[in-house]
Amino acid sequence: MEQLQTLPRLFDYDQMTLKKDNGNSLTGHDILSVDQFDRDALSYIFTRSQEMRELVERAGGCDLLKGYVLACLFYEPSTRTSASFIAAMERLGGGIIPITQGVQFSSVSKGESLPDTIRTLEQYADLIVLRHPEIGAAKLAADYAAVPIINAGDGAGEHPTQALLDLFTIRQELGHIDGLKVAMLGDLRYGRTVHSLTRLLMQYEDISLRFVSPDILRLPMALMNQLIDRGVKVRETHDVADVIEHADVLYVTRIQKERFADPKQYEEVKDCYEITTELMTRAKPNMIVMHPLPRVGEIHYRVDDDPRAAYFRQVRNGMYVRMALLAAVLGKA
Ligand code: ASP
Repeated sequence: MEQLQTLPRLFDYDQMTLKKDNGNSLTGHDILSVDQFDRDALSYIFTRSQEMRELVERAGGCDLLKGYVLACLFYEPSTRTSASFIAAMERLGGGIIPITQGVQFSSVSKGESLPDTIRTLEQYADLIVLRHPEIGAAKLAADYAAVPIINAGDGAGEHPTQALLDLFTIRQELGHIDGLKVAMLGDLRYGRTVHSLTRLLMQYEDISLRFVSPDILRLPMALMNQLIDRGVKVRETHDVADVIEHADVLYVTRIQKERFADPKQYEEVKDCYEITTELMTRAKPNMIVMHPLPRVGEIHYRVDDDPRAAYFRQVRNGMYVRMALLAAVLGKA
């Protein structure tokens, strides 16, 4: 297992009290992009996330964030991101304002602007988690907000907290990140999780990336050029069969219907990939399959019984990582 930072432990499990505030570079900051995280910051978050796992396993939670309130403002559908932020806050003893069941029930449906909604919520909350269909919306919100904003997905832009939990999962499952061969499959053009994870992986040594997609859903050229400039080994293909035997991680994504301007184009590519038990026989014995979920047919349900199917473990890790992030941003970790 890769060496993580040695930090004084956050919790005294006998007393169930907070030991001390260790200070960290995230306190009071927005989390808008993965580019804010260098390897030290990643190591810090992974250490704290592991600690959060132990906390939940031993005690279910604690009062670390008692007295703090988190607002979850979601302009796009969500199951895991919203539920895991809410669970994370609750397990740390904080309160939540959940605007996650559709902003149509909020004043957004009366025409309220994003800045006004943000300036309202910050009157009640210490931190705002925002999901929005437009690239750059989290940055815009942060420009107006006096409290930290966490980007929970801005259209086809970024999804930094998902990428952190993805990387944490890879580390937990395989023990290291340097030297891995990672294959990403599906909607690489609009897939914000792919964009964020790719940018984080660039920071590690000797990473090989294989991108599998139909032509119209290839990775954006700007990101590809960044990878090439950084000397990352990259290859593109249409066929998952080209990559399955060598991959350490197969990161599968959904073809995202809602991102297509032309529904005919979606129809052409929607069923282009299926991960089957037969395909899995050709993968390495210790390879893992990941998916940010939801899946809509691209991984067969029978694959779930394969121990290499890591996607539901990945879901759980999301809660630990978000617990660590909330504590860090609120200056309690
Ligand atoms: N849940 C992920 C996201 O919000 C992936 C997806 O929706 O397909 O980006």
